[in-house]
Amino acid sequence: MSTETFSFQAETRKLLDLMIHSLYSNKEIFLRELISNASDALDRLRFEALTQEELKIDENELEIRIETDSDAHTLTIHDNGIGMSREEVIKNIGTIARSGTRELLDQLQESESEAKESLIGQFGVGFYSSFMVADRVTMITRRAGEETATRWESEGDGEFSIGDAARGSQGTSITLHLKEVDRDNKIDDFTQFWTVSQIVKRYSDFVRYPIKMKQESTKPVFDDEGNIKEGENEIVIEDRTLNSMKPLWVRTPSDVTEDEYSEFYRQISHDWEKPIKTLHFSVEGRLEYRSILYIPQKAPQDLYVQGADRGLRLYARNVLIMEHCEDLLPMYLRFVKGVVDSADISLNVSREMVQQDRHITSMRKFLTKKVLGALQEMFEDDKENYLKFWNELGRPLKEGGINDFENRDKLTPLLLFSTSHDEELTTLKEYVERKKEDQEAIYYLTGDSREELQHSPHLEAFNEKGYEVLFLTDPIDELVLQSIQEFEDCKFVAIDKGEIELGSEEEKEEKKKEIEEKKETFNDFLTFMQKHLEDKVKDVRLTHRLTSSPVCLVGDEHALNPQLERLLSRDGSVPERKRTMEVNPNHPLVLKIQKLIGEDPESSRLGGYADLLMGYAVLSEGEKLENPARFNNLVVEMMERELE
Ligand code: ADP
Repeated sequence: MSTETFSFQAETRKLLDLMIHSLYSNKEIFLRELISNASDALDRLRFEALTQEELKIDENELEIRIETDSDAHTLTIHDNGIGMSREEVIKNIGTIARSGTRELLDQLQESESEAKESLIGQFGVGFYSSFMVADRVTMITRRAGEETATRWESEGDGEFSIGDAARGSQGTSITLHLKEVDRDNKIDDFTQFWTVSQIVKRYSDFVRYPIKMKQESTKPVFDDEGNIKEGENEIVIEDRTLNSMKPLWVRTPSDVTEDEYSEFYRQISHDWEKPIKTLHFSVEGRLEYRSILYIPQKAPQDLYVQGADRGLRLYARNVLIMEHCEDLLPMYLRFVKGVVDSADISLNVSREMVQQDRHITSMRKFLTKKVLGALQEMFEDDKENYLKFWNELGRPLKEGGINDFENRDKLTPLLLFSTSHDEELTTLKEYVERKKEDQEAIYYLTGDSREELQHSPHLEAFNEKGYEVLFLTDPIDELVLQSIQEFEDCKFVAIDKGEIELGSEEEKEEKKKEIEEKKETFNDFLTFMQKHLEDKVKDVRLTHRLTSSPVCLVGDEHALNPQLERLLSRDGSVPERKRTMEVNPNHPLVLKIQKLIGEDPESSRLGGYADLLMGYAVLSEGEKLENPARFNNLVVEMMERELE
């Protein structure tokens, strides 16, 4: 048959036009696309050979070969796979049968150039991507089982020609007549061995057929005595296999060494430390996929950098289709590195499509559970490592405590808090196990550090009752508890907010009565303090929460914690709210001041005492004094008086 010229189908023309004029920076992916087609063609040959005796093949000969010619400036990729008949070439290469193409093209036409880029990149554009780097493409292909070969050629300008050709055996060879090197536009010299081998390594390392290429090198020539002959070099051409072919994840976990896992982790994470935990598993059933997940030792440096690359590598049958698939794990597990290889994901899935893909949604659910399960296991069997992990990556996990409602019961047992019980971190479960019989709530106090909180006056009544108090030293901690709402029927109660009632009903009644009675006695004191501190506190009242401190400050029941309030009021997002001063009626100092007021209500010392008490309350929370100079002067005055 003679050579015929055909027009591309309208859609193909659009796609080609996009390719040719694409400013898409990742042009090197053309190689991934061609290799992936070649690998599919080899798969299909193997498959057909199973049932068709005449297609005898030698498994060991199946290969993909890349050949370059730097003088002619071409790159050819050969495969000895299934090949195509003349009709198949016309059908497969002239038209786009892929589902979703029309939608993609519509979307592409409407989108801004930046969005275009990412669409093109994520979609994968198959064979046509060759036109990003070549201005002419020639294909010679022979269908397995047929005698004749077909030649296809196009300049991507709307037409292609089809003619007869000769080819020794089944398979396809595609020659790209490369555009001129233009590094600004990411058109590298694709005829160079190292350029090609790096691209293959990056995208197609795990393709299961060898991707071979000849490497030319020069070797020195030696004379009979073993000395290098000056100025003489021997050119050696060696056949190299560019890909490792064996993805770790398709191997049986027991056959993979720890070093191999670590090496692979290093490759994909760029982290030089070993991972703290490696998970390797396969899922079978309605959905089939394999995965290797790594939990790092150290928090990645870009953990809190917005827009940083995150997400697992997504492969479809050993071909990398997305380097950072963010949708396979929730945001709070962004520190997890790894790969997922699914048999059900299409090579041409776009980032936008991934989000809606039900396979991805289902994998995400499973992978999340898997990671949380592994952490739970680490917590139970290897506490030391878990604590290391927590120090580095507890923070993002807390984000999960706030957001991931679905996995709350798996996340909550993993959260650790500092506590008044001892120096160790505790889980809520451990807290509840230690809780006193008459204790109704899980108590907590927020502050900057354990040291500071340990000496807080708010703790006094709790220490006396032997009630444990959680020390929330991370601003996010309180949000976590608020999101969890309650744990094993215990509510979370901030001990520096509202009025505190501890103990049995009787005890509470008794304490209440006691306070009522004392109100009379301390009336003058309370009135004076209220008046003097009018601008600083909302109210002054008696409390039984203190045993050794004279006073403390408490917030309203629904107030923000003081640290958060300080933070927010500094930038003006919320007005600073006044708090209530609580007074310990049994403290000798309080009794003495009350006595002084009784004897000499106009005493000039009273104002100073009130300010000192206010300062005491503020300092005991680790907060800053409003007027440190006045506080210091009062202290000095008092010391002088004492020494007189
Ligand atoms: P896709 O690979 O996504 O289907 P392409 O445009 O890359 O889209 O290829 C279109 C079709 O051409 C393929 O589906 C396949 O049938 C055929 N094809 C492409 N490359 C080869 C090849 N090397 N050997 C055999 N058939 C091929």
